[in-house]
Amino acid sequence: MKLIVGGCRGTSPVAQPEFMKYGGETTAFLIEGARGERVLVDAGTGARPLGLRLDGEREISSLLMLFTHYHLDHVSGLPSLGLIYSPRWNIEMASPKRGGHLVGDVIPRLMHRPFWPLQVEDLKSRIQFTTLRGSNSVAPRNFGGLQIRWCGLHHPDGSTAYRIDEPASGASCVIATDMEWGESNEEERAHFLRLCREPSPVSLLLMDGHYCDNEYAEFKGWGHSTWQDCIRVAQESCAKKLLVTHHAPSRSDESLVALDVEVHRAWPWAALVREGMEIKVGES
Ligand SMILES: [Zn+2]
Ligand SMILES: [Zn+2]
Repeated sequence: MKLIVGGCRGTSPVAQPEFMKYGGETTAFLIEGARGERVLVDAGTGARPLGLRLDGEREISSLLMLFTHYHLDHVSGLPSLGLIYSPRWNIEMASPKRGGHLVGDVIPRLMHRPFWPLQVEDLKSRIQFTTLRGSNSVAPRNFGGLQIRWCGLHHPDGSTAYRIDEPASGASCVIATDMEWGESNEEERAHFLRLCREPSPVSLLLMDGHYCDNEYAEFKGWGHSTWQDCIRVAQESCAKKLLVTHHAPSRSDESLVALDVEVHRAWPWAALVREGMEIKVGES
């Protein structure tokens, strides 16, 4: 199982040269399963380049899209995802009901006048909307040889963390892009730790570390964790590897390089994620 990073910038895309090493596109992660399964988690602006990659794979024509939530930095790349305009593609867009919102209601609103000239009904791909059952998954949803689990996270209007397992290879990945660990209650924490631990300690944890501990007091309640929270959670859940994501749009490459060193020094199995990374999940 492979993870490709289309975008890992939080809140807003950035395009100036001093942001290009870690990348300016907002959240979009592609999971490639060994049997040809393709799962796109979120459709921030990083979804557009991932769509080009997917469309280059002539033998693949079905895609599962999982949405963590609908803040603009996680959906604004959807209208630019070329696959939705192509009759070759079958696309399932899925998410549990969160904050009262259903994926089948929200996405058509995004692709609607006056926000975008084309409507969902005009798209040439076959699109199916699926509301995943339960705020926290009871049983995994199968997709080819992959198993998908999820749980709710503390974030304004709620957010969803996904866990993707590939039992044949033993690889697993948890993606938790937007969550505020500092404000999460015991139940929310227990659900998330369980997602990271079961059915086995996760191979790769991708977690929101938008802030540093010394900045957090000023931004408490804004919905994001600190990179130190990420390390605490990774250690507590016995995750094998941690990549910190949702980089603040104010952080230049220079500051992120320095932060990367600090993160790695704090826990040798941790680093900051970078746009364009391709990671073989489960391999060190
Ligand atoms: Zn976000
Ligand atoms: Zn958000």
